[in-house]
Amino acid sequence: MAEPQAQPKPQRPEIQINPEAIRQAVDARLNARLKMWMRICAHCGLCADTCHFYTAKNKDPRMVPSFKAQKLKKLFKKKGAVDQAFMDELYDTAYGECTLCRRCTLYCPFGIDMAAMVATLRGILTSQGMTPEGLKAAIQNYIETGNQMAVSEEDWVETLKWMEEELQEELPGATIPIDKVGAKMMYTVNAREPKYYPQDIQMAAKIFHVVGEDWTFPSKPGWDDTNLAMFAGDIKTASYIVKLIKEQAEALQVKRVVITE
Ligand code: SF4
Ligand code: SF4
Repeated sequence: MAEPQAQPKPQRPEIQINPEAIRQAVDARLNARLKMWMRICAHCGLCADTCHFYTAKNKDPRMVPSFKAQKLKKLFKKKGAVDQAFMDELYDTAYGECTLCRRCTLYCPFGIDMAAMVATLRGILTSQGMTPEGLKAAIQNYIETGNQMAVSEEDWVETLKWMEEELQEELPGATIPIDKVGAKMMYTVNAREPKYYPQDIQMAAKIFHVVGEDWTFPSKPGWDDTNLAMFAGDIKTASYIVKLIKEQAEALQVKRVVITE
């Protein structure tokens, strides 16, 4: 079997280590459930073969899910007394050695959620300014525009109208409803669709027309159903993104929200 190729380490953001801030960030996130998981792991290794990093890296013991998740315990024990090298190691694990897929969790006899532990690590790193650049930019876009691709409200509505016009050439009478109060369903998309793949919106509209669906898009922020802030453990922004969707669903009085992600 061919040797797996070494993957480049994720580029690490430079930070000023602030031991007190790190200690506080850890304490704020370590709830009873996480502490219990850190304690009860029996190191049985049953989770090892479930992880694609472990199997792809020739069963490297450093890729065993419990080994990666236990770095949270190491961080907890250090009480903020960490150096840059340790934080870099955490960063490499959190972003380069775990996709938070939760496959290992399904196989652990104790139900230890290793993805939740690694996600907590990401949240702690983010609180210290250690977030991958791409994620950081997307999170800023959510905060400023309500969607990860920074599509303006004007461009969003214009794209919907453009797709509707094209759709009607093929299916006269088909529409892409915007802000229809009382519609049965509010449809949401990945912001990449209006930005790069508007035809996907048209295709969905075609299906909804053919089956006679009662649906609508909101014109205001709340139509992007991705939540990349979650991947950085940025709970504050992640909650804000969900709030935008909820607000639009309530304003339009729809019965359900349908997401494509
Ligand atoms: S399967 Fe569960 S108990 Fe066993 S090593 Fe993995 S996390 Fe620990
Ligand atoms: S959650 Fe992380 S450690 Fe567990 S199987 Fe997925 S990638 Fe591996």
